[in-house]
Amino acid sequence: MDCCVCTSMPLILRPPRNSICGACYEGARTIITMINNLETQKTKPNSTNNGSSPASRRNSSKTLDDCIRIWSEQMEIFNEQKEDLGFLRGIVAAFKEQIHTDILVKPGSHGLPIPAHKFVLATRSEIFKNMLECDECKAAPNNQTITIPDLNHEELSSLLEFLYSGTLPEQTIGRDVYALSRAADKYAIPHLLRYCERYLLSSLNTSNALETLEIADTCSNQALKETTLEFLVKNIEHVVTSPRFEAFVHRNPHLTVQLVSRAFANGSK
Ligand SMILES: [Zn+2]
Repeated sequence: MDCCVCTSMPLILRPPRNSICGACYEGARTIITMINNLETQKTKPNSTNNGSSPASRRNSSKTLDDCIRIWSEQMEIFNEQKEDLGFLRGIVAAFKEQIHTDILVKPGSHGLPIPAHKFVLATRSEIFKNMLECDECKAAPNNQTITIPDLNHEELSSLLEFLYSGTLPEQTIGRDVYALSRAADKYAIPHLLRYCERYLLSSLNTSNALETLEIADTCSNQALKETTLEFLVKNIEHVVTSPRFEAFVHRNPHLTVQLVSRAFANGSK
């Protein structure tokens, strides 16, 4: 059928406005649904929304024209964020290229130290800030090192990369998530703690759930601990017969008691 939207006819010869082909009709419906979903997601975290904000007004029924306007607004925000990120990347480059670094951060077990910037450490962690403000550090301003004994060189490098960039490659977080969770908890870096938590939740499976439970317990992350316990209870047969369960029991008698009693309670329901 002739379509008033996708026709190549000049304006004056176009079919009437109510003749639209299936592809244009479906395309328009898809765009409207997509924008509606995006808008719903945007308003969800703010449950105190009183219904008069621009976002909630937009949640009423939309035309394709509304969608194009919302999409343009989103593109504007996206471009601004891209600019902000580009600006921040300068700090990452200062770390990677070791420009004007003023402190050496040493890993445990005699690993090679990594040059960094005091202001980054101090702004990302209150604990680092206090460490840098101690009398010893102030007394030797030209030869400063701090030691992070719990991390090896690779893990420390990942921690520093995160402190500068706020993110990590999938492979790096996958490799160091347990060490980084402990470091985030010990050195009070809440953003890293949430980042690790999201990764642990998204990758939870029967071969890593016991380790995830241990880390949730160490970091006193009650929400992560609950989710992992529930997951373990659902998969209890698989878990107790796995070779790593015995070592887990030795290391964590208190968690074993919690897990087993919950599995029993669940089984008796
Ligand atoms: Zn069409």
